[in-house]
Amino acid sequence: MAEDNNKNNNNNTDNHDDEYEKVCSICRRPESKAGKMIQMGMGIYVCADCMQRSMDTIMKGDFNYDDMMKLSKDIPGIHFMNMADLGGEIPNKQKIKKKKEGEKRVPLIDLKDIPAPHKIKEKLDEYVIGQEYAKKVISVAVYNHYKRVATDTMDSIEIEKSNMLMIGPTGSGKTYLVKTLARLLNVPLAIADATSLTEAGYIGDDIESVVSKLLAAADNDVEKAEQGIIFIDEIDKIAKKKETHSRDVSGESVQQGMLKLLEGADIEVPVGSNSKNAMVPLVTVNTRNILFICGGAFPDLEDIIKERLNKQASIGFMADLKDKYDNVDNLISQVTIEDLKKFGMIPEFLGRLPVVFTLDALTKDMLVKILKEPKNAILKQYEKLLELDEVKLEFDDDAIEAIAEKALERKTGARALRSIIEEFMLDIMYEIPKDDNIGKVTITRAYIEKKGGPLIEMRTAGLLPG
Ligand code: ADP
Repeated sequence: MAEDNNKNNNNNTDNHDDEYEKVCSICRRPESKAGKMIQMGMGIYVCADCMQRSMDTIMKGDFNYDDMMKLSKDIPGIHFMNMADLGGEIPNKQKIKKKKEGEKRVPLIDLKDIPAPHKIKEKLDEYVIGQEYAKKVISVAVYNHYKRVATDTMDSIEIEKSNMLMIGPTGSGKTYLVKTLARLLNVPLAIADATSLTEAGYIGDDIESVVSKLLAAADNDVEKAEQGIIFIDEIDKIAKKKETHSRDVSGESVQQGMLKLLEGADIEVPVGSNSKNAMVPLVTVNTRNILFICGGAFPDLEDIIKERLNKQASIGFMADLKDKYDNVDNLISQVTIEDLKKFGMIPEFLGRLPVVFTLDALTKDMLVKILKEPKNAILKQYEKLLELDEVKLEFDDDAIEAIAEKALERKTGARALRSIIEEFMLDIMYEIPKDDNIGKVTITRAYIEKKGGPLIEMRTAGLLPG
């Protein structure tokens, strides 16, 4: 009876785990790599290789007498390992999604379903304000990329990978653009920070950990991950340091380490963890079809551009206008590969990011639009929240401008908007539900500037200053 129960339990676990590959508890390879598994009970599996190796060890007599005696007492016949040492069953989070029988590699986006660039841009327009050039470039690059993935051409004309380098100030929408894109295309996305990456063996995340992140975002489905997007932010922070004599762990060598990833290579990554260790199963992910987008603010790049332009100018007739470029808007959009090299990005790295484009610094007008226009605009979100309390929330145009002006002062782009709004909305969100009679709240410039209160209207008409 007890045995029956046990059997049922095992069956249950098996059924439940049907979606996942079994993993060898000794070498931690999945069954797609290690072959058929021998079930040892308690969710523990051993692959044929490990089983053979254990047998060989015993046959060779590498065991000492005490061990042999202990083992032979434990189990009749041969017993060669202590199950408890294996750490029990491996959680699903560390297992790889199984392929169904007969299932073959399918592109996540079918060739005929890849939206045309103008369609991608139209969708981006619904969420991302301004940045017209960036949206156009990214739409075309992504279109080409997924065409390449869908056709998987291995003939003589291989379409080059369209990895991208995105340059733009903090809070101008770099991450947001990529997030929106991945959501529209319904492909997995991993976002990593270049500052946390180090060469293998140093403190920090291995470069390959970005691929494990993508695998996790793809629900441990290797094929899905292989067609996803990896966004690496703060890429300017791994620029080569000028004039260092010591080994540069965080900068140049990280760029070096990323080369094969960007180009396309088989990478062994730990499943369900950021670091490789003996207890985590490994799986091979090919990065050939993963789209890499690197982003960074590249402070001081403008100075390099200015210097180049000034030098060019001083050769010609305009030598007298030395500070000619000091007040030029969006100088950053004139960036060249040479400028980026000067900044400290190595040529091989830049060579693997063929699509380079810049984002504009957000102006007051753009900030106003960001507050009001996107599908999920912050103001719309607050209006909806209060609507649930049957209170109408309105923002005076002048108040919206005041918020944008405050945000500009903070110099963190659109990122400042949310924190500014949260500051003054706190009291409103706290006070309004207290009084059922309140029907409408209007936010004014005076309230934003802390010179007055919002306008409160009661349900039974009448206008009362707050
Ligand atoms: P960064 O350029 O530093 O990566 P983010 O993309 O993280 O900036 O922007 C922060 C937030 O600001 C986003 O989550 C988004 O809500 C908002 N935002 C930034 N730029 C735009 C934009 N152009 N249009 C709409 N929202 C934006």
